[in-house]
Amino acid sequence: MQDIIKNLPKLAKDKHKENKNFFAKLKKKPPKQLDYIMQELHNEEFKRTDCLECANCCKTTGPLFTDKDVVRIAKHFKMKQQQFIDTYLRIDEDKDYVLQSVPCTFLGADNYCSIYDVRPKACSEFPHTDRKKFQQISNLTLQNVAICPAAFNIVEEMKKRIKV
Ligand code: SF4
Ligand code: SF4
Repeated sequence: MQDIIKNLPKLAKDKHKENKNFFAKLKKKPPKQLDYIMQELHNEEFKRTDCLECANCCKTTGPLFTDKDVVRIAKHFKMKQQQFIDTYLRIDEDKDYVLQSVPCTFLGADNYCSIYDVRPKACSEFPHTDRKKFQQISNLTLQNVAICPAAFNIVEEMKKRIKV
């Protein structure tokens, strides 16, 4: 897995133009059954991919924290919300709460998330490949294929399965 992760930015770069063209066409005319196809591709890929062998998303990016995430996670730590924010978060250029540093401070050496049951919504949904109307998050997906081996494989399968 580590070799795959190491090579992923280059692989994604090599595929970038092809992926960009594919998503541009997909956006114009998404197939009617796109949600269904994505759910299937997502499920198939995550049967093969074990996130505990990877954790590259937690190591290299980190999620946005919504207000609801902050309330829930601060409560979990029995901290005041402001205290939680001051300890772990910063505001980024889009004015969103993000981690002060990566790898995520809640990631264990065994790749387990220490706040798994209350983790941010963005973490539970990453890499968003089972999202409805998937064509609408193509810019995000173009970035995620360089971080997430599962997202990379899913996009490769999409291009085989969907003729645009
Ligand atoms: S979601 Fe993707 S990047 Fe994150 S741990 Fe799973 S395979 Fe790795
Ligand atoms: S909160 Fe958990 S799932 Fe989210 S980035 Fe941190 S370790 Fe990963």
